[in-house]
Amino acid sequence: MKQKPKRAIVIGGGITGLAASYRLTREAEKRGIPLDVTLLEASTRVGGVIHTVHRDGFLIEHGPDAFISTKPWAKALCEELSIADEFISTNPNMRRSFVAQNGKLHPVPEGFYMMAPGAFLPFIKSPIFSWRGKLRMGLDLLIPRQGNDADESVADFVRRRLGTEAFERMAQPMIGGIYTSDAENLSLKATFPRFVEMEQAHGSIIKALLETRKRQASQTHRDTSGARYSLFLSFATGMQTLVDRLQQAHLTVAREPVPRERSPKAHLRLNTRVAVLQQQKNETGWQVSLADGDVLAAELLCIALPAPQAGTLCENVSPALAKKLQAIPYASSATLNVAFRREDVAHPLNGTGFVVPVTERLSLIGCSFSSVKFANRAPAGHVLLRAFVRECTSELTETALKEIAALLGIKKEPLFSVVSRHTQAMAQYQVGHQGHVKEIEALAKELPGLALAGNAYHGIGIPDCIHSGEQAALALLDSLINEEN
Ligand SMILES: Cc1cc2nc3c(=O)[nH]c(=O)nc-3n(C[C@H](O)[C@H](O)[C@H](O)COP(=O)(O)OP(=O)(O)OC[C@H]3O[C@@H](n4cnc5c(N)ncnc54)[C@H](O)[C@@H]3O)c2cc1C
Repeated sequence: MKQKPKRAIVIGGGITGLAASYRLTREAEKRGIPLDVTLLEASTRVGGVIHTVHRDGFLIEHGPDAFISTKPWAKALCEELSIADEFISTNPNMRRSFVAQNGKLHPVPEGFYMMAPGAFLPFIKSPIFSWRGKLRMGLDLLIPRQGNDADESVADFVRRRLGTEAFERMAQPMIGGIYTSDAENLSLKATFPRFVEMEQAHGSIIKALLETRKRQASQTHRDTSGARYSLFLSFATGMQTLVDRLQQAHLTVAREPVPRERSPKAHLRLNTRVAVLQQQKNETGWQVSLADGDVLAAELLCIALPAPQAGTLCENVSPALAKKLQAIPYASSATLNVAFRREDVAHPLNGTGFVVPVTERLSLIGCSFSSVKFANRAPAGHVLLRAFVRECTSELTETALKEIAALLGIKKEPLFSVVSRHTQAMAQYQVGHQGHVKEIEALAKELPGLALAGNAYHGIGIPDCIHSGEQAALALLDSLINEEN
């Protein structure tokens, strides 16, 4: 007798949910498991915070503008989707950035990595730090490593090893910019485990960075072909390429699920908000109630939402799990894409952008020179800048425009500006985050057929989210096999 297909539902069509539904569909096919996959997305489009738009010849990223290539999962998925040949790298001639200090932009010294120098001469010559600050940073070579295994905040770690100036003038803006977060609360172990390893292995961050640079230099010397991919990658047509390709590769928007014999694709339902989750009687699966009143059933369920929203959905199912999910804080942020004529910007724009320390008391967190960083972002003779703003009010975006103009010597009004607000989109990994996530995972394990995925758990970047979605898909398929044995 023909086996009745099992059903899987993925909630949330951001990159995490897309990766989960793609992997569920592909892997079930590969393993010969009859599985009907449905992806439920509340809004009118998939992609979540990833969203590229085009205006007057400019390419505007509302959300992320690149992903890191050293974490393999995004790159591997792009290779599988046959879009790796559309990768573009950051401009190889402009791989430096600036930091604002007293209203001026100074280049980050060559070799400097987040909080510490990896080369002496450019660091010694840099006007960013005082002599006192430089000497204090040098003490990192002598300060003994921390004896215990406890997590600490990024701020405490940098101040302990390298001093207050290293923190305020460099680590805080660099790291705060990546995580849109207060480094005083940010978990070092969850966000930069590499620095923990550096301290343990070398007893000094500076020593570790110097050795890494030496090793990289000798590797480049031996490997004349150079690295296959640069550190940050995007696509000629923007980050939307990844979303569109994932959608084309495995989703159909037919009103009713198409029988699998006719289409091996997953079923996408847009404008479909999940309101309530319940376990079926005898824990045989899940009942998914939609905001429009419809009720769906599935044996497998992946919640690919920001943690507070995942928590709300879990309130009926496991109040303890719901509480832990809701305890992961999220921050809001806004991006501001601004277009200028090149001749209206006095700064040479000889880098990829700048970051702004909190001590400068500006509304800007940082600003990418998008059309310098990547090709195809602005028409010839024009510039596209992309700023991150601490909050989202209209006065603050006005203020941010004035701050950009002052730092880059811009006297004319922009051709246009586009504000994108991201409410509660960025998970904040606070001290003790990894322990908290372990507790969440233990509680989720008690619920058969359920998997959690997203930027709340093991990394906020696109590669981490893809990995999280794929791992959730594989765990759900494994649970089917275990159930049958
Ligand atoms: C402004 C910004 C810039 C960033 N820049 C970078 C970068 O350059 N590089 C990088 O690697 N990472 C970057 N990140 C981080 C990374 O982009 C995100 O962590 C990642 O895209 C999150 O994807 P997600 O699918 O987990 O969540 P989301 O993208 O938030 O998607 C969640 C989806 O779920 C839907 N949804 C919500 N509730 C429901 C419900 N009840 N029912 C059904 N659907 C629902 C939403 O509509 C949404 O589409 C950035 C993040 C932001 C906000």
